[in-house]
Amino acid sequence: MIGIIGCGASGMLAAITAAREGASVTVFEHNEKPGRKLLATGNGKCNLTNDNQSPENFRGDDREAIGRILNIFTKDDELAFFREIGIITREKRGYRYPHSEQAASVVNALAAEMNRLRVRVIYGADVTGVARDGDSYVISYTCGGAANEARVTSCILACGGPAGERLGESDTGFRILRKLGVAVGRYVPALVPLIAENKHARTVSGVRLEAGVTLSVTERDGAKKEYKERGEIVFTDYGVSGIPVMQLSRFAAVALDRGGRAQITLDFMPEYTTEEVSEEVKRRIADAHFSNRSVEEALEGFVPGKLRYVLLLRAGVDPVKAAAGMTDAEIAAVTTELTAMTMTVTGTRPFANAQVTCGGVPLSEIVPDHCEVKNMPGLFVTGELLDMDGNCGGYNLQWAFATGAIAGRAAAKR
Ligand SMILES: Cc1cc2nc3c(=O)[nH]c(=O)nc-3n(C[C@H](O)[C@H](O)[C@H](O)COP(=O)(O)OP(=O)(O)OC[C@H]3O[C@@H](n4cnc5c(N)ncnc54)[C@H](O)[C@@H]3O)c2cc1C
Repeated sequence: MIGIIGCGASGMLAAITAAREGASVTVFEHNEKPGRKLLATGNGKCNLTNDNQSPENFRGDDREAIGRILNIFTKDDELAFFREIGIITREKRGYRYPHSEQAASVVNALAAEMNRLRVRVIYGADVTGVARDGDSYVISYTCGGAANEARVTSCILACGGPAGERLGESDTGFRILRKLGVAVGRYVPALVPLIAENKHARTVSGVRLEAGVTLSVTERDGAKKEYKERGEIVFTDYGVSGIPVMQLSRFAAVALDRGGRAQITLDFMPEYTTEEVSEEVKRRIADAHFSNRSVEEALEGFVPGKLRYVLLLRAGVDPVKAAAGMTDAEIAAVTTELTAMTMTVTGTRPFANAQVTCGGVPLSEIVPDHCEVKNMPGLFVTGELLDMDGNCGGYNLQWAFATGAIAGRAAAKR
């Protein structure tokens, strides 16, 4: 019998693939229903995968192994699989969703297929440990307050990472693996908002706008790197969020975890060069000379009002002062705030606010063709437990489905 811990994205794919190969499969799930996190994905629409398969969308230390896994079960294999179980997709700028745009359709279709294949799922089964016993594994779990054990020939750990903890995830998988002697690297939240120093955070909280975002990290040894994104950001009372910030968050999280530093720079005028912005500010100030307007009034329309007020304070310019009195140094300072507002990143929001875990089991610990732990025949690891965190856009689910399918097939063959 194959025992699968977790009835989430990778666990369901593993169960279906193994059962289709004729294996007898039991899934242990501590929630009362399957795919709780899946239901929350893509704002309830479930972004399954993406037509843009560029390698930079899949991040992790072992890019070669990541590529190998994604070549065994490709995006097209995933789409074909879902079509087979009744899920055709809708494409939006390359992002693939179920045509119903309801994550529930995906979960229902997966659950129906497991049902058809007579996969047994024990809900309310909280797995607390896995021990190796000769050629088999013993899964310990509690269910309905009672302690139980199940002996299996292969065990697939598909219990996800601590990201989205409020959805019932935890780091049990990492703890079980460490106890079995499997190396688990450091792990941090990814696709997560950033905490940043901003003494005007309360004033600007809730402001949303398009921005160019640059994350600069300095490692403990002084090595520097820059990462760039562009898109809608949102100021919060703790720092900054929005898709471009979340995309960059893993680099900040890793650097801070290693004792380095991180800084975020926002360009609110990404369509213009700094010189063009400076010229435009000068032109507005000159116009305002004739109408006695304040600096704040003169700069109407560059950015939302609350942000304009805060940028002036940060530039050291009194917002109500007459525009006519602006000095060249003040114009330069305002231009800098408009094109390169910089904040020190002090941390990330916790795992509960993250979409995925960065780090975990190094891919060097597994045989990529099987997702099986080296020197531990019959022990498989999938999904978020492995060291791969994808960009926003369906890459994390693609990874979960790919590793689940690979592990399920290999476990059944065994
Ligand atoms: C809010 C949110 C939105 C997201 N949106 C997207 C998106 O649109 N596209 C995308 O690609 N990715 C998205 N992700 C990421 C994606 O959901 C995960 O990467 C993916 O679900 C990981 O799959 P997994 O199988 O490793 O773990 P999961 O899907 O988390 O499944 C793990 C399962 O194991 C169970 N479990 C855990 N511990 C135990 C235990 N001790 N005993 C028994 N069962 C246990 C859990 O209850 C869960 O059912 C999102 C994540 C979040 C939090």
